[in-house]
Amino acid sequence: MRITVIGTGYVGTVHAACMADLGHEVLGIDIDEERIASLSAGRAPLHEAGLGEVLARTVSSGRLRFSTSLAEGAAFARTHFVCVGTPQRPDGQAADLRFVDAVIDGLAPHLRPGSLVVGKSTVPVGTAARLARRLAVSTRDCEVAWNPEFLREGSAVQDTMHPERIVVGVVSERADNVLREVYRPLLRAGVPWFSTDPATAELVKVAANSFLATKVSFINAMSEVCEAAGADATVLARAIGADSRIGDRFLEPGLGFGGSCFPKDIRAFAARAEELGAGASVVFLHEVDRINTRQRRRTVDLSRRLLGGSLAGRRVGVLGAAFKPGSDDVRDSPALAVASALQEGGAAVRVHDPEALDNARAAHPALAYTLDVPKACEDADLVLHLTRWPEYGRIDPAGLAAVVHEPLLLDARGGLDEPSWRAAGWSVHALGRPDRRTAVSARGGAS
Ligand code: NAD
Repeated sequence: MRITVIGTGYVGTVHAACMADLGHEVLGIDIDEERIASLSAGRAPLHEAGLGEVLARTVSSGRLRFSTSLAEGAAFARTHFVCVGTPQRPDGQAADLRFVDAVIDGLAPHLRPGSLVVGKSTVPVGTAARLARRLAVSTRDCEVAWNPEFLREGSAVQDTMHPERIVVGVVSERADNVLREVYRPLLRAGVPWFSTDPATAELVKVAANSFLATKVSFINAMSEVCEAAGADATVLARAIGADSRIGDRFLEPGLGFGGSCFPKDIRAFAARAEELGAGASVVFLHEVDRINTRQRRRTVDLSRRLLGGSLAGRRVGVLGAAFKPGSDDVRDSPALAVASALQEGGAAVRVHDPEALDNARAAHPALAYTLDVPKACEDADLVLHLTRWPEYGRIDPAGLAAVVHEPLLLDARGGLDEPSWRAAGWSVHALGRPDRRTAVSARGGAS
């Protein structure tokens, strides 16, 4: 089957490559000429496990090509997946739909009758219906469907080839059949298929992200209470997570969520619900957002207190720049937000990340970066663990203790083996843990 994938960012590149790997003929389209040149040469413009191999394989097979022309796309196929960005509007909390609208307006004059435009971007409920009306002005017999994307950066290829579910929002059996044809190999493998109306499909995506964001902020709120009460949030998280109705995933107290989805998606959802007169139903999302933002500030405050009350002139080694492990994406990265705040407070900060340094440098040019963990921590008065890359779990704490000025660790992500760090002489601290209060007051910095 022939399809186009419009917008070849994180979602579009992975979708295009994986659909070609499933056997489809795919044309990927983007307005970014540099990106299209790189993709056409079979080079992945982003770090994602397995993507390089799938891309090289499908490009060399001829099943995957790239272009900057929507007209070429409209001539090439009758099924078009829209994967462009839907960032937060610069003037408010709602989603900025200008990229989605531009694709519809660019495609419309060229679409062949019977074409299906399938949105994968995360959008406010009602967008598919609005775009269908927009298309109907200048096309014949074309439909809009919504097929929200659930891939997680860091495991995007795996998630696309083995999704936990596929959700499609359609207005006709024809559209449902087209999408069943696209995903036939996955359906044969038993992937659950949810076919519904476009509004429900749009809402499934934002409801899922809202639930996950709420889970993260819930445990971080508990960690604030634990700190106040002298209790241990990590034990609390494990103990409540052992209840199968709750589950332990997304229940780790720490620095909170970032990236290009959760923060803007919960804000856009709240804004859309407000427009629909249902704002009161999701008012809690504002609190979820506030708790999450507070984690960054609390990490900076705790760092300052661990350093005796002032950041000025102190050296800080930062482990991690990406917003999550497995990705080179630094959009709204909590790690870089903390690193920058520490630097603005007067500390000399050096950041390590195994994959995200190019993007980090472009986004935060004032910070110092290195690809070498010991260099990041050389002479450091404090080391912060801010992105949970698996390689940080393999660091030799004794070796690192030998290069720092002070073996003082703030593990804001969990995942480092605390006993072995302590055994190597490190003083280990975390948000929501009672020991930080004792340890900090021992240094005279606790309030
Ligand atoms: P991205 O910013 O990485 O990529 C968007 C791409 O669209 C860019 O390459 C841009 O050049 C291109 N583009 C913009 N306008 C265009 C136009 N008129 N024609 C062709 N291309 C155009 O975004 P992303 O992270 O891939 O996210 C895309 C959408 O998917 C968003 O709505 C996002 O919320 C959603 N989503 C993202 C993820 C994720 O993990 N990144 C997961 C699920 C859903």
